[in-house]
Amino acid sequence: MSVRIYPISTGQVRVKNSQLLRAFGGPWRVMGDPHWSDWLPIHAWLIDHPEGPILIDSGETCRACAAGYFPRWHPYYRRSADFAITADDEVGPALRRLGLRVADVRKVLLTHLHTDHAGGLHHLRASAVYVSAEEWRIAQGVGGALRGYLAHRWPPGFAPRFYDFSGPPLGPFPRTCAITQAGDVIVVPTPGHTPGHVSVIVRVGNLSYFFAGDASYTQDALLAGRPDGVTFYPRSAVRTLARIVAYARVEPMVYLPAHDPQSAPRLQAAHVLPRDAESA
Ligand SMILES: [Zn+2]
Repeated sequence: MSVRIYPISTGQVRVKNSQLLRAFGGPWRVMGDPHWSDWLPIHAWLIDHPEGPILIDSGETCRACAAGYFPRWHPYYRRSADFAITADDEVGPALRRLGLRVADVRKVLLTHLHTDHAGGLHHLRASAVYVSAEEWRIAQGVGGALRGYLAHRWPPGFAPRFYDFSGPPLGPFPRTCAITQAGDVIVVPTPGHTPGHVSVIVRVGNLSYFFAGDASYTQDALLAGRPDGVTFYPRSAVRTLARIVAYARVEPMVYLPAHDPQSAPRLQAAHVLPRDAESA
């Protein structure tokens, strides 16, 4: 059995245009921006792996559309994000549609703990959930709440495992964490959007599928080296984007951010190309 990769769309989100690319004023500019973006996907990804199914991120819950789900006191949630999600869009039903028992998902690899990546965790109580220790630390307490983390919405008793970044360097990434025995699923720190943000690299043949979470919202933003408009760590984000581009220079790569409308088409195109090459 070979590795298969499936996009899971857990509904849609729109944000203020100034969130997509950082401009002068950074996060403060986002709050006052009257202009909404187009609707964007909220992707999780299923890696159907010989060592067992692995999920990257868990998407958002439909409860995000209900009044009172987000803290009213938080200016970002009050005016800067808008969700369109049905119960059927959630990761549990989506996995079942792919023919999977949700309880069979071995590992859940979170890129970070923002609500639209951790919102489906209540479906995944049987799985080992991983997050970076840095992300876990910064999401706690009053500081975590101010930064927009919804710790009170995590499943009761939520206690993730931490990535162990003691693996060998991989190209421009000095620290790595191998997730599979085969060494073909590798987590690398990609700080910037949040300080503890990570990305997941899945190597199939000579191709690297780069699951970027929110390292950038789009491939265009990556190529432009532009951080998003909500990060408080833009310098760190710019360094990360340069590292990802450096990796892509030496490894054929399919770049898959969580909210890029082109991610799913890009994945599909990449799946088709090797098969065409085989039959040629
Ligand atoms: Zn995020």
